[in-house]
Amino acid sequence: MDQTERKICIVCGEPKEDGITIVTEFICTSCESEMVHTKVEDDRYPFFVHQMKQLWLRFHT
Ligand SMILES: [Zn+2]
Repeated sequence: MDQTERKICIVCGEPKEDGITIVTEFICTSCESEMVHTKVEDDRYPFFVHQMKQLWLRFHT
């Protein structure tokens, strides 16, 4: 009875237990907090925006 559900985070691509699910996609807590603290001038910002855009596209179609 030790079956914890792990989902694949769309940002880091790793299976995590804790995180949020937006529409059908999962983002782990570490990536989520990282995204929140990522500044626009950060190198990773375009990557996060790209990932989030995938979600929005699915959500709005
Ligand atoms: Zn992640």
